[in-house]
Amino acid sequence: MVRERDACIHSRLDRDAYRALEPPVYLSVVYEFVDEESSVRSDRGKPVKYSREENPTVRVLECMVRDLEEAEDALAFSSGMAAITCTLLGLLERGSKIVVPMEMYSTTLQLVNDLAKKMDLRVVKVWPSAEDVVNAVDSDTRLVLVEVMTNPTLKIIDVAKVAEELPSEGALLVVDNTMTTPLLIKPLTYGAKLVIHSTTKYLSGHNDVVGGAVAGSREMVEILWDWRRKLGSVQQPFEAYLTIRGMKTFHLRFEKQCSNAMAVAEFLEDHPRVEEVMYPGLRSSPYHSVARRVFRRNLFGAVVSFRLRGGREDAVKLLRRLRVIKPSTSFGGVESTISIPIASAARFIPPEEAKRLGIAENLLRLSVGIEDVDELLEDLDQALGG
Ligand code: PLP
Repeated sequence: MVRERDACIHSRLDRDAYRALEPPVYLSVVYEFVDEESSVRSDRGKPVKYSREENPTVRVLECMVRDLEEAEDALAFSSGMAAITCTLLGLLERGSKIVVPMEMYSTTLQLVNDLAKKMDLRVVKVWPSAEDVVNAVDSDTRLVLVEVMTNPTLKIIDVAKVAEELPSEGALLVVDNTMTTPLLIKPLTYGAKLVIHSTTKYLSGHNDVVGGAVAGSREMVEILWDWRRKLGSVQQPFEAYLTIRGMKTFHLRFEKQCSNAMAVAEFLEDHPRVEEVMYPGLRSSPYHSVARRVFRRNLFGAVVSFRLRGGREDAVKLLRRLRVIKPSTSFGGVESTISIPIASAARFIPPEEAKRLGIAENLLRLSVGIEDVDELLEDLDQALGG
């Protein structure tokens, strides 16, 4: 087995003529090809003939993701949404039943809803908990699609429990591990069938490349390889290279981001202008014990959500006052960013559901970066008017 850090640091590159340590960016779309039998093949036996199907630089990235997630194989996509689209189209049939939590990345939920109309899917949306997910699964269920930690309210779905309690035949468990990353949890080791990433976030980590990945068994990846070929949603080589470069420092960045997030959560919890802090690392969090059980390394992620005393105007004012932390909708980059979920991704969640989930007007989502933690606390303190 490849050591976890080595999976990121030493790229799985076949030695080239110059013995390059870093993977060359193979921009060539075409490769000499006479017939399948005589063509050069990648390590998974695919002919390397046309870049929409197989590209040597993209393959290096795929092997890194494969090793990190302890999978048999992996695929890289042009975005996280491309990875999710390919997975759904590859695994669902007309009329299939799919179980999803009501709190999930909103574009994923929109895609599920739109595909449901076109493919007569039966979509069952449940409260984000292992019990509710498992209870919604029956012999007709084809797919269960969950995120380990919901966004923005950071509820945790115990995927180990979901995997254990799903019937061995039938429903396939697919886990979006973008927020939690393989450093916190490796869902395939619990029995999930596929793991999905928006590599745009923590894996690449620098807010300079959009990408996605799927990892799983050889058999599942083979199905999706063919769908990716038909959808044309492969990652491009230069973007793959940027992601490879980012992934070399993934462990260092993510560990620092998680420790900064813990300090930020503790600071906010004690602040008089803050009504509630949602962070599973806090002992006061209702998800603390499940997080301790399912997350590795005593880390709890690098997003902290909190509700200010006041309303939407106060949330907007805070965003304008921050100097180091920048307003932005994404998360996972080295710089700290903050957003008002109800004004961005969560605006697509029906209002009654948003209310039930705790997505309020005064809720803020802070993606904690790698800055000096004191700099972050001082910035929050001055913006909160401390
Ligand atoms: N999955 C999760 C959990 C996300 O947060 C996002 C984007 O924010 C995606 C998937 C989609 O990824 P991308 O923006 O790379 O298409």
